Amino acid sequence: MTNFEKTLKVRGKWTFLNLSILSLVVLILFSFLLWYLISPRVSVMNPVLSWGIRISGLLFIVTVTGGLFLIILSSALEKDFLFPHGEKQITLKVLFPINLFLGRLFGISRDQVRESFIQVNNSLFKATEKRIQRDRLLILLPHCLQNFDCPHKIIGDFNNCQRCGDCLIGDIVGIQQKYKIDLSVATGGTLARKVIVDKKPTVIIAVACERDLCSGIQDAYPIPVYGILNQRPYGPCLNTFVDLERLEKAVQYISDGVIDAKRHNHQCVGI
Ligand code: SF4
Repeated sequence: MTNFEKTLKVRGKWTFLNLSILSLVVLILFSFLLWYLISPRVSVMNPVLSWGIRISGLLFIVTVTGGLFLIILSSALEKDFLFPHGEKQITLKVLFPINLFLGRLFGISRDQVRESFIQVNNSLFKATEKRIQRDRLLILLPHCLQNFDCPHKIIGDFNNCQRCGDCLIGDIVGIQQKYKIDLSVATGGTLARKVIVDKKPTVIIAVACERDLCSGIQDAYPIPVYGILNQRPYGPCLNTFVDLERLEKAVQYISDGVIDAKRHNHQCVGI
């Protein structure tokens, strides 16, 4: 493994951030190459169009580069250098698919890239915590957390859970009641989107696998989502688990009182 590959494969959020820098370089080189190939024809056909493409291309590259710079700065320092103008979203939407492609070239699986993205997202969540409205917190769970053999229908109404202890849903309902927050269980992205539209949360804690969390975080924008990966000892979508302690700490972290306690005590909640 070369040093360059080692740099890319460094664990945590830097896998995604390093891949993003590489993707940006590839994007810029590709854009210039494309322009080099088509510009003679476009200039002859229509000089105004030629200038239009140049200016739009330049603005696009400046936006994506600026967005990535602010994302890296905010994620690394966990300080808010992002502004609420969607630049972050444009950057991620453009670079994410290139990251997945380049990751595969360097032997980094899609799920590793996605996991790293979730860590970047969570660090940006912390960086922008002062801007987060905490009044309507929703915990969004995947249906696969429920015991596969459970006869009780909890989609649509988690109160149908009998808290028998055969899966973690009962414990999570306990957290919901303790902190008086909203909770929903969804079978997939479409239902999760519907829940968000209906309940209008201002902030979400989402539990899911790498793929669903990544798409959910991007779909929910501009609502901030704190992502927690589920654990899948029996394979995908079957009797999955979540780290309950981490989930509760995330709820505490987002609830006002504990934020204050964290600030006064310098006690890291470790989410
Ligand atoms: S804890 Fe609730 S959801 Fe899980 S098996 Fe028991 S009744 Fe079903």
